[in-house]
Amino acid sequence: QMTDISTKEGPISPSYDWFQTDSLVTIVIYTKQKDIHLDSIIIDHQNDSFRAETIIKDYSYLIHIGLSHEVQEDFSVRVVENVGKIEIVLKKTENISWKCLGRPLEKHNSLIPKKDTGLYYRKCQLISKEDVTHDTKLFCLMLPPSTHLQVPIGQHVYLKLTITGTEIVKPYTPVFDSLLSEFKEPVLPNNKYIYFLIKIYTAGLFTPELDHLQIGDFVPVSNPEGNFKLSKLQEVEDLFLLAAGTGFTPMVKILKYALINVPSLRKVKLMFFNKTEDDIIWRSQLEKLAFEDKRFDVEYVLSAPTSEWKGKQGHISPALLSEFLNRSSEKSKVLLCICGPTPFTEQGIKLLHDLNFSKDEIHNFTA
Ligand code: FAD
Ligand code: NAD
Repeated sequence: QMTDISTKEGPISPSYDWFQTDSLVTIVIYTKQKDIHLDSIIIDHQNDSFRAETIIKDYSYLIHIGLSHEVQEDFSVRVVENVGKIEIVLKKTENISWKCLGRPLEKHNSLIPKKDTGLYYRKCQLISKEDVTHDTKLFCLMLPPSTHLQVPIGQHVYLKLTITGTEIVKPYTPVFDSLLSEFKEPVLPNNKYIYFLIKIYTAGLFTPELDHLQIGDFVPVSNPEGNFKLSKLQEVEDLFLLAAGTGFTPMVKILKYALINVPSLRKVKLMFFNKTEDDIIWRSQLEKLAFEDKRFDVEYVLSAPTSEWKGKQGHISPALLSEFLNRSSEKSKVLLCICGPTPFTEQGIKLLHDLNFSKDEIHNFTA
């Protein structure tokens, strides 16, 4: 039983259907909405539970079925964007005719506000771990073969670990494996790897445990969440990124995406706040990117530099910001992204308002 949900843009009333050939079963989801992409749908197929969650505006539409017959591990997903149709093609293990798709499981065929859905986790395997700075590492996790999940730019996922008998979850923002590698966003259809830059805090609760994982171990990874929308980058001319410490992580994909996919872009400036030079994540990559692309500049500000440091010093301040935030033209369309420790972000936003930037021009990343 489906109900229409009215939004400002009109009703949402998704539905689904299925059909088969000798060797394939195709499930079709009709979202009846534009703006549906490969990252709008998350599919997990485990044992005989087939789960497909489609994000439609602020709602989640769930297909949840115990399939009537076995299918192969891999499947394909296709989105016909102009009509909002999603096709999931499953390969039958045996070439026999199915009488039904399967039996409905919990919340099958339901449309629920996204905020009420709870997070679904699947176990991902730790593939590699590499030192980036003295305390920050690049982790590579692999999704199960029977999962389709692409984390939208600017969003994060939760990782889950059981620590002394208690399940603990913390949010982390996926990055690319490098700032310089070929751009793969919107990700390759079969992108199975998720990369994270994670700072290990010796006195922390979660990160020391994460650091103790062995290559080959499994970590549950949640569905993506987050409040950033790519439409914020539309027609932007000046993009200013204010990052402190690992607050750099959401900037990685936004920066790369903007340089490649936003034709109006004239300037991208990253102001990167750290304690010392040794804390700067991917410094040589940032400098190489700035050298290769004249639209991109990076500036470091250190709060605890050594006496040799000749660059900018201190915490975020009106003087630093007003010097940094010069537009390419007086009326240029700007977007400011800010991320870091809470006091940094709060002070930053206040200072930006004082400099007459509007709410719409500022994005901060929240859990
Ligand atoms: P915690 O136990 O939280 O401790 C962190 C530090 O604070 C330690 O040094 C600890 O000693 C100190 N501390 C703890 N409690 C106190 C206290 N009461 N007083 C003083 N000091 C204290 N992090 C990343 O590295 N990479 C990311 O991509 C990333 N993405 C994020 C995305 C979002 C949306 C958010 C909200 C956070 C993100 N974080 C990211 C931060 C991450 O979620 C964790 O907060 C971080 O990894 C610390 O976890 P922890 O349990 O190891 O440390
Ligand atoms: P850090 O302790 O190394 O500090 C980096 C810089 O932040 C400092 O050099 C300083 O300039 C500034 N700073 C720190 N404390 C400040 C304060 N009290 N007031 C003003 N400025 C201050 O940072 P870290 O250990 O890398 O921590 C990064 C933070 O970013 C964490 O709190 C993490 O939760 C947050 N984060 C948030 C997201 C998100 O999406 N919301 C993503 C990644 C990281």
